[in-house]
Amino acid sequence: MDELRRQLTACKGCGLCQNRTQVVCGAGDIYSPVFLIGEAPGGEEDKLGRPFVGKAGQQLDQFFSATGINRNQLYITNTVKCRPTAVGKRGLINRKPLQTEIALCRKWLEQELALIKPRLIVTLGAVPLTHFVGRNPRLGDYHGRILSVEREKITLFPLYHPAAVIYNQKLNDVYRQDLELLRDLVNKLL
Ligand code: SF4
Repeated sequence: MDELRRQLTACKGCGLCQNRTQVVCGAGDIYSPVFLIGEAPGGEEDKLGRPFVGKAGQQLDQFFSATGINRNQLYITNTVKCRPTAVGKRGLINRKPLQTEIALCRKWLEQELALIKPRLIVTLGAVPLTHFVGRNPRLGDYHGRILSVEREKITLFPLYHPAAVIYNQKLNDVYRQDLELLRDLVNKLL
């Protein structure tokens, strides 16, 4: 994992290296059977060099604490490891990663998965879900469902991205129910 991080932090494999402050590597328990995947770092993550420390991360932490999930027992990373940006009125703003950026960064996620060998993969949002089920999945059809990947050896559990709850409070109850199910899955594994 140290060698992977060393190589990853020097990556210039796509154009996102130009505006990043730093590469945001995965964080958490590298021996955890539970592997969470978000979309891409935002501004706070880019500054601090850790995944899920901005608004969406705080929202996720609140749900974790309300449902009794310990973030320190999980490994958390992103599909794309550098912050995708666009030019806004007051400087750079976050944007979704492009398919080309996702494809070029894919090898890093695959190496993380190969090293950690999780038994439960939790995708946060549509971008990481495409890695497993193909392009343009409708999250409404997938969230909170227990699926299998790699010949049934790994459980896949898709969730909405926590930022979706910030923008759509109607998802609050749905997200909490999904997190309660996740807590039960995590507790069985730990
Ligand atoms: S986003 Fe991924 S492929 Fe692109 S520079 Fe960063 S680490 Fe490399």
